[in-house]
Amino acid sequence: MCVQCGKSIAMDANVCQYCGKDYRVQPAPVKKQTVMPLIGGILVIIAALTEIYSGLVVAFWGDTMNSLMPVDLGFDTLTLICGLVFIILALIALIGGIFAIQRKKWSLAIVGAVFSLLGGYFILPLVGLILIAVSKSEFD
Ligand SMILES: [Zn+2]
Repeated sequence: MCVQCGKSIAMDANVCQYCGKDYRVQPAPVKKQTVMPLIGGILVIIAALTEIYSGLVVAFWGDTMNSLMPVDLGFDTLTLICGLVFIILALIALIGGIFAIQRKKWSLAIVGAVFSLLGGYFILPLVGLILIAVSKSEFD
């Protein structure tokens, strides 16, 4: 039975032969998704993790220097602050990378990717930043 004209049609009919009603399932418009945010996010996370490690090294470097020097040069406070700032930026980068993988909060993912550039592996997070930047339309 056709829902539009009421005439009897075959159960498996794609189109009603009387009124032309189309019974084929219309594919819902799917948001185009690529692996770019995923790869970009992973690159940013790797860079962020190495950045956290670098921050820890910097944070405790002053202590090592002071123990090697005959006089206290006051390195420890300065390097500790530098290291902590580095770690905070790295944590923002880490969060940005996670958001990139989830395709959420594009602007935060971009900020995180920019901060991940400070980690040392410059090319790696730069590729990540570009991948996230060009896949903006995939983000919520
Ligand atoms: Zn019909």
